[in-house]
This record gives sequence, C-alpha cells and structure tokens, in this order.
Amino acid sequence: MASERQINVGGVLIGGGAPVAVQTMTKTETANVEATLAQILRCADAGADLIRCAVPREADAEALKMLVAQSPIPIIADIHFNHTLALKSIANGAACVRLNPGNIGGPEKVAEVVAAAAAAGVPLRIGVNSGSLPKHLMELEFSDPVEALVTAAVEFVELMEKLEFSNFKISMKSTSVPNTIASNRRLAERIPYPIHLGVTEAGTRWTGSLKSAVGLGTLLADNIGDTVRISLSTFHAEEEVKVAWEILKALKLRERGPVLIACPTCGRLQFDMDSVVIEIEERLAAYPDAIEVSVLGCAVNGIGEARHADFGITGAKDAGMIFSKGEPLKKVPTERLVDELFAEIDRYYDSGKTVVRDEAAAAEAAEWLAENEDAEAMTPERLAAMEAEASEKAGGGDDVLQAAGITAKKPIDEDASPSAGRRFTRS
Ligand code: SF4
Repeated sequence: MASERQINVGGVLIGGGAPVAVQTMTKTETANVEATLAQILRCADAGADLIRCAVPREADAEALKMLVAQSPIPIIADIHFNHTLALKSIANGAACVRLNPGNIGGPEKVAEVVAAAAAAGVPLRIGVNSGSLPKHLMELEFSDPVEALVTAAVEFVELMEKLEFSNFKISMKSTSVPNTIASNRRLAERIPYPIHLGVTEAGTRWTGSLKSAVGLGTLLADNIGDTVRISLSTFHAEEEVKVAWEILKALKLRERGPVLIACPTCGRLQFDMDSVVIEIEERLAAYPDAIEVSVLGCAVNGIGEARHADFGITGAKDAGMIFSKGEPLKKVPTERLVDELFAEIDRYYDSGKTVVRDEAAAAEAAEWLAENEDAEAMTPERLAAMEAEASEKAGGGDDVLQAAGITAKKPIDEDASPSAGRRFTRS
C-alpha cells in the first residue's frame, strides 16, 4: 500500500499519494561548493526532485549555506556518527536530514536532533542499512536478515513516536534485491510513514541499473515506495537520476520527456539500426514532452504495430520512411532518416503541435511502404500481436498461434492493478 502519511521536503511532497520523488546523492566533496553545485545542477537538469549531500566534516555543514542558497532543488544533509553536524545542517538550511539513529551516539543525541528538526520544521530520513544494524539484532540478522532490518526500522519508528515526532520518512537498504523487496513489503504493512527505496551498493551502471529496476520496480508496481534513489558506482550522479526516471516511466508512474520504442531487430534488418537508435535517444533528450517515437528495423510489418507513436521511422537498405500516428509522412534516403525525423518533429512544434502533411510526399511514402510490406511474414511483432489477440479471446484457439507454440496469457486488468489511481500518465 502507498504510505498514508505525507511529508514536505523543501516543497517536494513525499508519500500520501504524491508522485514518487526522484532523488540522488552528489559524489563531490560537499565543501567544494563549485563542484557540488555543478553536479546538483546536472542532477536537477536530469530530473532530480531532491539531492542529498554528504556532511562528514564541519566544512561540509558550512558549505550547505551557499549550496542551499543556489540549488534549484531541496538539499538533504547526509549525516553519520556526528549529531552536531546534523544540528548545523538544520541551522544552515538543509531541507531534510538523513540519519541512522543507531550510529549517532545514543537516544539523547537522537532526541536533540529531533528537537532541532521539529523546531525548524525540517523532516528527517531515518536510514537503516543491513551493514550497520544495532548490536542487539545481530543474532536475528544471522537467522532472518529481513526481519532484522524490519525490526530495526520499526524500533526507530517507535523511538520517533516516543519523541512525538512524525515528520519523517524511512529507508531500509540492503545489497540483496530479494531482501530489499521482502523487507519493504513487510515494513509497508507495519508503518504509515513514507518509504524511501533503494538497493544499496547496487553496482555499475549496467548491473546496478538492472538490480535497481528489479528491486524497486517490483516494489513500486506493488504500490510501495514514495521516493527512490538509484545507487550506481559512477561519479556522474545524473546517471542515477536517469535510471530512476526510466523505472518510473516504465511503470507509467511518472512522465518525463519522450518515450522511445524500438524493435529488437532481427535478420530482416538492412540498416545500421543500433547506432540510429542511440542517436535518436540522445537527440530526443532535448525535447520536454512525452512524445512517443518508434524505430522499426524494417517495414515488413507495415507500421500498424507503431500506430500509437507520435512519430516513427522504418528503414531498408537504401530508403526508409517517416510516419506519424500510423500514417506515412515521407520517404527519405536511409542515411537521412534521423535528420528528417527530427525535422518533422521540429515542424510539429513550430506548427503548434500539429503534424504537417505534404500529400505528394505521403503518397510516395505509402507506395514505398506497400512495396516493402509483407502481410504473411511471421515476424516477432506479428507473433506478439497474435498472442495478444488470443489473450483477448481468453483462451486463444488460433491454429497458427498454437502451431507456433504460443499460449494465451490472461490480459492485465488495469483497474485491479495495485498501482491503479497512482499512475501519473496521459489519458
Ligand atoms: S521484423 Fe520486426 S524485429 Fe525484425 S527488423 Fe523488422 S521490425 Fe525489427
């Protein structure tokens, strides 16, 4: 279930049904204001709603003053071991403080930070890590690591409640994806507070993104999690933001920028589609709207499979075609496919978001398409379409489908989806 409670981190609402907030952490020395601010700006540009900065020294807490004044997004101070740095961070304008009550020096020091946060109206993030659980849970950690994480989190929640403080979110992080999923599911049933999701030390851009997508994606699809941070072994924090957005976009929880759809390619491909897709992805990053752009490796299927796309291309060895909403727009030489695609997209914006059609060019493209289409070819897309059609018929029965060894699947019931009503998407 989504958290019942909501907190406000410097104007960004977290929990209580608010859109899942994207955050990351700077990799620079926080006291290096110039480098930290430059990274914050790159992260904000990539779509970070919030940014966290490590505050291990006095100079870092001091630097927060300047960073807070110049950052376009709220700053969370990340504190370990030293509660006076938490107090200074609050005084210096941090929008939130992340602390692990287990390593801050005892309940009195936790109470001191909580009192300062309450007085300043600053929320806290209570962070529990599998690597730093309280000593009395070590045995439980050995026998049941998931329960140990959840117990630590619940104990900290009880400590906050005892201090009459409810302005917090909580995170439990583990390097294990199954433990991350299991512990957050368990915690979400036990507490009403917002949950921060992440797989800690997830790894490189490739493995870490996949682990995070599986772990966080599973939880978010279950409607668990109110803010996310992707942890990747890279100095480029904005890469973490991009991955977070791709996860949220894939689940249709939030929208940001264009959506690129591309076929997987197969032996029918006759042009250099992998580099074309990369170029399109890079150039699309400059467009703010959630337009859908489709790249088909060949025209054997026609363009029916991509009829929902706002714009698309399909190519062959010497020529290809630009299309929009399932209708041909123009035929172009293969080497000009990408430039012409973007010329059409720009024309669309210049015309007040209207697709501009040249009837003669469209007719030439339709002719090219007719020559390249093959209604009989058993392509990956056709097999998928047949599978979907059989699913709709609830039981299939299509002879060709059965001959191809495809079993009909039950269609997804969006209304029954656990995240129904929480998706922030176009109608
Ligand atoms: S048949 Fe489908 S997967 Fe193969 S190149 Fe054509 S569009 Fe791509």
